Amino acid sequence: MTEARKLFIKTYGCQMNVYDSERMAEALGAKGYVLTDTADDADMVLLNTCHIREKAAEKVYSDLGRLRPLKLSKPDLKIGVAGCVAQAEGEEILKRMPLVDLVVGPQSYHRLPDMLERAEAGARVVDTDFPEEDKFDHLPERKVTRGPSAFLTVQEGCDKFCAFCVVPYTRGAEVSRPFARLMDEARALVGKGVREITLLGQNVNAWSNDGRGLGGLIRELARIDGLERLRYTTSHPNDMAEDLIEAHGTEPKLMPYLHLPVQSGSDRILKAMNRKHTAEQYLRLVERIRAARPDILLTSDFIVGFPGETDTDFEATLDLIRAVGFGSAFSFKYSARPGTPAAEKPELPADLCDARLQTLQALLSEQQRATQEAMLGRELGVLYEKAGRMPGQMVGKSDYLHAVHVADAEARPGDLVRVRITASGPNSLAGERIGA
Ligand code: SAM
Ligand code: SF4
Repeated sequence: MTEARKLFIKTYGCQMNVYDSERMAEALGAKGYVLTDTADDADMVLLNTCHIREKAAEKVYSDLGRLRPLKLSKPDLKIGVAGCVAQAEGEEILKRMPLVDLVVGPQSYHRLPDMLERAEAGARVVDTDFPEEDKFDHLPERKVTRGPSAFLTVQEGCDKFCAFCVVPYTRGAEVSRPFARLMDEARALVGKGVREITLLGQNVNAWSNDGRGLGGLIRELARIDGLERLRYTTSHPNDMAEDLIEAHGTEPKLMPYLHLPVQSGSDRILKAMNRKHTAEQYLRLVERIRAARPDILLTSDFIVGFPGETDTDFEATLDLIRAVGFGSAFSFKYSARPGTPAAEKPELPADLCDARLQTLQALLSEQQRATQEAMLGRELGVLYEKAGRMPGQMVGKSDYLHAVHVADAEARPGDLVRVRITASGPNSLAGERIGA
């Protein structure tokens, strides 16, 4: 019997890349590849990359450099670059990195097995097309590798063209996957033991198909027996339709958590960013969402140091944060991305951006701590995902997506239990099980 060949995938960036890595593993699984945890014993190494900020893209090149000794000691090792760096740089990667055998953009993953065959025959292969055919129609059936909680990509691409962002260029135009396919994929996941599905899209709430918006899809998915929880990410404020907001109030399986990036609290900067909403519109939207689901936990993304940002603009961002009160947030220093409109503008001094980021993160951490502490004594639903580090301990996610540790020797991953929160740390909670 021939030994299975081993595949190591390193995933950078967002949850959509995590999902894509799973699908690529399945595509190569059909060619006899099984996943391994280290590059050292792999026959193929695939880097699934992120191009959103300069640091993320440069990291890929330094990781490729680090693979050189391995490639020299194992000449048959195949090295591939996938994801948004692959899409943005294409042939350039082959020129810069002679050890790379194949470069595959996010819309061509279904062609990976063929590309690998050509690479095995000695070719160096690039595919960064946006093909006519839908890659999802050509990928094998889902396997469940991440326990009771799974991702399901429902929408890809972006038509928003925020002035700082590469996504519309690397991921292409907004495309919604068909309703019937999504229902089938969700049923198949539930059949394999999944109890929570997070719907993914670069602009997930722009999903629409068959006369339905995301709220309608969520309602239909919620009817699947055995599927207990639904989430979705990432949303654009301008695509929060009334129907979706209403679903937060009426659909118990839709979890009280929403990631709603705002980027800035200054109207001047929002305009320069081409976000097409004002700070006031965002605040009114938050009010409407909270009217539908008062306990919803909101998170966001912020960019500091966008070209032209003054102290007054930055203060306006702090004011917006104070006005909303976020459960947590991601915050970044602006990073100029080649080919985007903002990259043409002069950048602010690095030390000013560092100082603003520190101030912003201090405020956000304070809000995160307060949100975690407010959970003390509350009874929350927790879906166990895996065993914890302590004997008899389980780790799962609360309704609000906090990591929760519980001493519960009898339990298994996939159990959905009631937990009373007894302790809160900066990044996780602990509690005791009080019921099924
Ligand atoms: N579609 C989502 C939205 O509209 O906000 C965001 C997707 S993007 C992958 C994730 C986050 O990366 C953005 O919300 C933004 O805060 C950050 N980001 C994108 N481009 C950036 C850049 N050039 N510099 C710094 N941060 C950036
Ligand atoms: Fe990028 Fe999000 Fe703006 Fe699209 S909506 S361009 S993904 S930040």
